[in-house]
Amino acid sequence: MPLTSKGFPLFLTFDLDAETMWTARDPAYANRPILMSQGAYGWKVGTGRILDLLDRYGIKSTFFVPGLVIDQREALIEEILRRGHELAHHSYSHAWILSLTPEQEREEMERGWQSIKRVSGKAPRGWRSPAAEISPITMPMLVEYGFDYSSNFFDDDSPYLHTVDGRETKLVELPFRWVLDDAPFFQYSIVLPGRTMQAPSALLEAWKSEFDVLHAEDRMMMVGMHPQIIGQPSRLKVLEAFIEYALGHSGVWIGRCDEMVDDMRPGLERARAEAGR
Ligand SMILES: [Zn+2]
Repeated sequence: MPLTSKGFPLFLTFDLDAETMWTARDPAYANRPILMSQGAYGWKVGTGRILDLLDRYGIKSTFFVPGLVIDQREALIEEILRRGHELAHHSYSHAWILSLTPEQEREEMERGWQSIKRVSGKAPRGWRSPAAEISPITMPMLVEYGFDYSSNFFDDDSPYLHTVDGRETKLVELPFRWVLDDAPFFQYSIVLPGRTMQAPSALLEAWKSEFDVLHAEDRMMMVGMHPQIIGQPSRLKVLEAFIEYALGHSGVWIGRCDEMVDDMRPGLERARAEAGR
């Protein structure tokens, strides 16, 4: 049985990190304009190209955006919202959580939350960590802020409900894995020694194989991408080919995280109640 009423859930999500992908590693990178321009490509070129592709297929998706990028690029964020996509929380400055004090982490949460509330008029419903790390206060804070989903953990191919501090919650985890991320394939920079680029076809091969197994097993597929990476021509062609491939199967739902979570959560709660009996 598929997890949702509309079939196999395929999430195509975009982390619009822009320049924060670099300044979060080292604030001094702000003084390296050419390095920063790699991030600028995400908002100047990549996002628009992605929005046009999604429109061509009538796909609504989720963009995880740091609050700082929302504040700096408000017109672009409004365009993302105008085209029907969801805006989700991705910290404020993309600061790596393990380097923060609890007070600083809370400030990142609050400021990012306020940026989304201000631009969209609504509270964010999902959260994804910058740099794929959390601290002991992160999960309780997600519950406190009333988030509906997290997309962070690598431990499953199916969604599940989090237990936080020993308490069962309604917080849905939408897990992913590095093979479902564009950055390990393509992120290249002179400040990242050892990183090489792979052929775009490598990504297509990996994602098609992942899709085949996950679809056959009635699980889910969470793809995480970055406009500054996947928005480049050769990679976007691969994303389009992957969309075509997925839509060539029956019963595939490519949609926003919030809508798919609303659809699948009653089933997850039922399964948890039955397992607890
Ligand atoms: Zn990010």
